[in-house]
Amino acid sequence: MTIAIIGGGLAGTACAFVLGQAGLRPVIFDASDRLASGASGNPFGIFNPRLSAEANPESLFYAQAFTLAGQTFETLSKTHDIGLSRHGSLHLATDAGLEKRYAKAADSGLYDASGGQYLRAREGADRAGIALDHDALWLPDSGAVKPAELCRVYAAKAELRLNRADILPRRTPQGWEIDGEVFDIVILACGAGVVWFPETAWLPVYPVRGQLVRVAPTARSESLRCTVCYGGYLAPGMEGLHVAGSTFQRHRTDTGIDPEDNRLILQRLTQTLPDQDAPFEMADAQAGIRAATHDYFPIAGAVPDYAAWEMGKESVIPGLYVSTGHGSHGLVSTLAAAHVIAGMISGTSPPLPQSTARALDPARFLRRAQKRTCSPSRT
Ligand SMILES: Cc1cc2nc3c(=O)[nH]c(=O)nc-3n(C[C@H](O)[C@H](O)[C@H](O)COP(=O)(O)OP(=O)(O)OC[C@H]3O[C@@H](n4cnc5c(N)ncnc54)[C@H](O)[C@@H]3O)c2cc1C
Repeated sequence: MTIAIIGGGLAGTACAFVLGQAGLRPVIFDASDRLASGASGNPFGIFNPRLSAEANPESLFYAQAFTLAGQTFETLSKTHDIGLSRHGSLHLATDAGLEKRYAKAADSGLYDASGGQYLRAREGADRAGIALDHDALWLPDSGAVKPAELCRVYAAKAELRLNRADILPRRTPQGWEIDGEVFDIVILACGAGVVWFPETAWLPVYPVRGQLVRVAPTARSESLRCTVCYGGYLAPGMEGLHVAGSTFQRHRTDTGIDPEDNRLILQRLTQTLPDQDAPFEMADAQAGIRAATHDYFPIAGAVPDYAAWEMGKESVIPGLYVSTGHGSHGLVSTLAAAHVIAGMISGTSPPLPQSTARALDPARFLRRAQKRTCSPSRT
């Protein structure tokens, strides 16, 4: 089976990695001259689940994707330097609503496998190594890796075709043709760029710009032992610097450093951890473009045939898959999405519940549109 993956960030390389484990050797095409040139190029990324107080297919996906990613990163770090640090994360309940939500999340059972628990401010401070004013949800298995290194390790067995901004796979009776070469399967894994391909132009995916900063530790923050999340986040010193993030700007696609973003990140940081003895000094900053979806949940699976659905036939386009919309939790969601897609391609069961594949299915948007059209209020 020949497989082309378009996009060499976490989503595309994770697909190459999982397919490689099944003995396949995909070809990765990327517009840039290197892997991880987009959102996946941050110096360090935090891995944790998107938190939820309710057990449903979406929160189960994140909880299980988190466990799967942690196990995979542990295994890979035995033979590769992916910068793995499993220092845990404290999610501060900075208002009454979050206190209720995080306490409920700790009781939901979703994070039992990863040791999740709700802590009083004093216990949280013991874990963090610095004074904290808020109770928090504690996830001891959370941590950080270097996303770009991870992409390189994921892609180790794939063939790379870089500087390829002009790829437009063409469907032929033999398969998918790219520059005269025919592939059985194409996986679109190019972030918000999926909307430039005719088969996936209808997907409700949009760009969300983000910026993070790295700051030198202060005498007090030097003792920080885990990531503290408060809407933004501060990670413990890695390679001598803290990573503090991040901003969210829908539909903005410039990636130059915006000084106003730096100011906002540092302002929120000092408001949440006010007992710093000295202001944080910024070392550098980085910006990238996330891909988000209208329902804030990733998209992964076989691409529906939009025209056929419009005619009332629920079918997919043969040999075409998509992985996108990984938002701000791509470190965990891209790997789980890759398992779901690889399972569909190779006919094996992914290490995730069946409800996951349905929740990720790109056709969910078409089903919802159908329901809206058929609902009594619209007729
Ligand atoms: C500031 C910031 C901080 C973040 N922090 C975290 C974090 O701490 N933890 C976490 O889990 N996630 C974090 N994220 C989110 C995470 O980085 C993303 O979810 C993840 O990188 C998405 O991976 P991707 O492969 O879908 O997209 P990308 O990494 O953007 O990769 C897309 C690739 O497709 C290529 N491409 C695009 N169009 C085409 C085309 N037409 N032809 C060929 N190639 C194309 C691009 O060159 C790029 O290499 C952060 C994001 C940002 C911006």
